Formats: sequence, structure tokens, C-alpha cells
Amino acid sequence: MSDFLSDRIKNMSTSATLAMAAKARELRNEGKDIIGLSLGEPDFNIPDFIKEAAKQAVDDNYSSYSPVDGYADLKQAISDKFRRDNNLNYNLSQIVVSTGAKQSLANVAMVILNKGDEVILPAPYWVSYSDIVKLAEGVPVEVPTTIDTDFKITPDQLENAITPKTKMLWFSSPCNPSGSVYSQKELEEIAAVLKKNPGILVVSDEIYEHINFREKHASIAGIDGMYDRTVTVNGVSKAFAMTGWRIGYIGAPEWLAKACTKFQGQITSGANAIGQRATIEALKAPVSKIQYMIDEFHKRRDILLDLLGSIDGFKLNIPEGAFYVFPDISSFFGKTIKDTTINNASDFALFLLEKAHVATVTGEAFGNPNCIRISYAASEKELLEAVTRIKAALSED
Ligand code: PMP
Ligand code: GLU
Repeated sequence: MSDFLSDRIKNMSTSATLAMAAKARELRNEGKDIIGLSLGEPDFNIPDFIKEAAKQAVDDNYSSYSPVDGYADLKQAISDKFRRDNNLNYNLSQIVVSTGAKQSLANVAMVILNKGDEVILPAPYWVSYSDIVKLAEGVPVEVPTTIDTDFKITPDQLENAITPKTKMLWFSSPCNPSGSVYSQKELEEIAAVLKKNPGILVVSDEIYEHINFREKHASIAGIDGMYDRTVTVNGVSKAFAMTGWRIGYIGAPEWLAKACTKFQGQITSGANAIGQRATIEALKAPVSKIQYMIDEFHKRRDILLDLLGSIDGFKLNIPEGAFYVFPDISSFFGKTIKDTTINNASDFALFLLEKAHVATVTGEAFGNPNCIRISYAASEKELLEAVTRIKAALSED
């Protein structure tokens, strides 16, 4: 009966981040001591004031379907957040709340793309972009960047990737997996190319906005001429450690928000009620309430960079945001270590899992075959132990 499956699902890859996390879980269940640095998931508990709001929502009987695009008071909190943090004015009819930013992205792909439409993905890109685009019958056009340009696309690269079929540009800043952050000036240079090409919509994934160690976060929608052609994607999974509560949202032109609501109305009926009520309190709170987590990520980044810097063959950029490092490990390709030949990043990630019991994710899943992604959403102790094990596994003796 497996032939009954659609070409759509047969052609889809399994999410590499989730697959690696599942594999690590499986090995742990077999009694192996695996350090999981594969999943982009904060290891903090949800702050108490958000938990309290959720408990209150249960007691207040928020048990019915919410409006498909989200509760009005949540959309008001999102609108206020956009104004406070991003200087962007989205009114309520421009906001759609979804089951995680992942669904926000899928909504946009499904309502914008026709078969064969191209979407430019500066690579490395977040693992699901490519499959979401393909699901909507679009064509992902990967534009490779390297560690030497801090994994950021240049205006020339963007210009050269544009064809008459280009319909969208998708990128994240801070970037998963590279941790790179586009500055205001860099976004203005990108916007200058887009202004010469008015038929391209931008999807700006800002889910790591607050986990930014560099400068004030810059939103491309705020640049002259970009507001009406940008979808700003965000959510509470990362900054508020609310991954399992599945709340994401967009600010977008009204026509697009309406289309996403129509689509979502047939797919999920809207995001879960309790998560939405809790998100109101999360977004109303000043950023200072979550600063302790951001500071901790910053500290861990420095520790991890320091530790990895002592391993021969790891080439590193300095990730300015999110909670990943994305070392170029291509210097190991062609080598045989401990009877294992490493030919590519997937071999390398598997080697680390099997020989060091450290779970990472191959860069191939993110459109970069020379790197692996290491999440530092883990304790200092785990990071230290992980690097000690990696070093031991890579030592030739
Ligand atoms: N975009 C990026 C760049 C991410 O890393 C993630 C992580 N899951 C998402 C979107 C989706 O987040 P969620 O669905 O948990 O809101
Ligand atoms: N975004 C996280 C990651 O990149 C969570 C896993 C996922 O949703 O794919 O690891």
C-alpha cells in the first residue's frame, strides 16, 4: 500500500533537525550517554509569569476555537510589540497568529506560490524553507555563501540570482544555522536591489530577533519602499522558550494576511487557545524580563567558540545571534579517522554521533555541504564535555 502515498510526501525530506533529535533520543533510550546539540530549542523553562497566564486561561475556560487569525487582544499585543521593538506599524487586519512560525511560513508559501515560481534562499538557510517551498510547488533557488562573507548574501549575488520567475526572497536574521546578523546597512543594500525588481516579495524570518549580541535588530520591512512587500515572521518559541506551545505570527500586507487566514481556516482553524493567551503576557512584558536567557546564550557562545577554536580543522565565524555555531569542517574530508572515512558533512555529523556521542546536524540540510551546526542551547557542562569528547574522537591515536 505504500504506493498510495502521494508524490508530494514521497518527494519531501524528513526535517533533519527533528530527525537528528529523534535519533539522539533513540540512542539515549538504548542507554547511550548522548549529548544533544542538534535541536534549536532553548533549555530554559518558560518564565513563571507566562506559565501563570496559561494557568489563568485554563481557569477562565479558554477552551473554544479562537478566531482563525488569533484573538484580537493577542493581535493587539503583537501590533504593540512590532511598534515597540521594530518601529513597524501593523494594524490588526495585517496580523495572523499560527501554529508556530513554521506554519506562518507554510501559509505564505501556499498562498503565494504557483507551480514553478522561484524563491531565493541565501544558503545556509533554515532547514525547512526548501521543503516548504517545494510543498507549494515552488522552486528553491539556493545562493551559496561562505564563512568568508560571514555566510551573508551580497547585493551582487542577489541580483544575479533574480530571474523573471523569482517571486520571493526568504531569509532569517539572526540566521539559523549560521548565527549571522544582517546590519541595517546590509539590509539597505539588499533592499536597493529589490527596489529595482518590484515583483519580489520578501519573507523576513525574525524569530531570533532578541537573541542578538551585536546591535539593535534591524527589520527589512522598516526600510523605505519595503513595507508593502515584506512579510515579517516571528514567534515565541526561541526568546520565550515556548517551543512546545506552538505560537508564531506574521505582520504583512492586508491582502496577504487575509489569504493566510483563509488558508489556515481550512487547515488548522487557528492556533491553540491557551498558548495564545499566554503569548499576550509574553509579548507585553519588557524585553528585560527575558534578558537573563539572552545573556546566558551570549556567555555560552563565547565559551563554545573558545573551546572549538582549540580543535585543529574547525574554521569558525563569530555568530552574532541565535544559538548556533556553524563551523566549516571541510578540512576533514577525505580523512580516515578511527576506521571511518569522512567524505562530507553528513559523514562528519554521523562520526561525532557514533564516536563522540554528540548529536549535531549536517550542514547539507541547511544548504551548506562544508559545515555542521552545533546548538549551544545546552548547559556549560554539556558544552565542555561535548568538546572534550569531539577532540578525543578526532585525535588520530
Ligand atoms: N524559523 C527559524 C529560523 C527557526 O529556527 C525556527 C525553529 N523552529 C522556526 C522558524 C519555526 O519556529 P516555530 O515553528 O517553533 O515557531
Ligand atoms: N528550529 C529548530 C531547529 O532548527 C527546531 C527544530 C525544527 O523545528 O526543525 O533545530
